[in-house]
Amino acid sequence: MPRYRIPDDEQVAAALERVIATKREVDSQRKLKRFVEKELQGEEVFRIGEVRVRHVAIDSGIIDLKIICRESGKTRSMAKCPVCTARLKRVRNMTVWGGTVTLGYHCERCGYWTGIKHRIPVRYVFTRRG
Ligand SMILES: [Zn+2]
Repeated sequence: MPRYRIPDDEQVAAALERVIATKREVDSQRKLKRFVEKELQGEEVFRIGEVRVRHVAIDSGIIDLKIICRESGKTRSMAKCPVCTARLKRVRNMTVWGGTVTLGYHCERCGYWTGIKHRIPVRYVFTRRG
């Protein structure tokens, strides 16, 4: 039975940097995960989850993340970012009656945003910054 190793964050970040330096753009999270695993592979076989690759990419500061979403019918309030788990900021507007109304939510960490009808992330595009 093959044995897999779990890379640490520094190994993943270094592999990501090499992948994005040569590819410039990777148009799905699954592909990015495969490239990173391939980059890490030496005498040992590494395994890493797609969500973890996304989180390291967001933290790296060298990758622009494009989030492609579909709209869902859900309208309940949202606290956590579905992309990076950071706390979402409420986007509000003043009403003519002097109150405020929530228009949607925004994530300062990864750039995700949604209106009152939730936008559900379905695909990610990772591009080298600069
Ligand atoms: Zn986020």
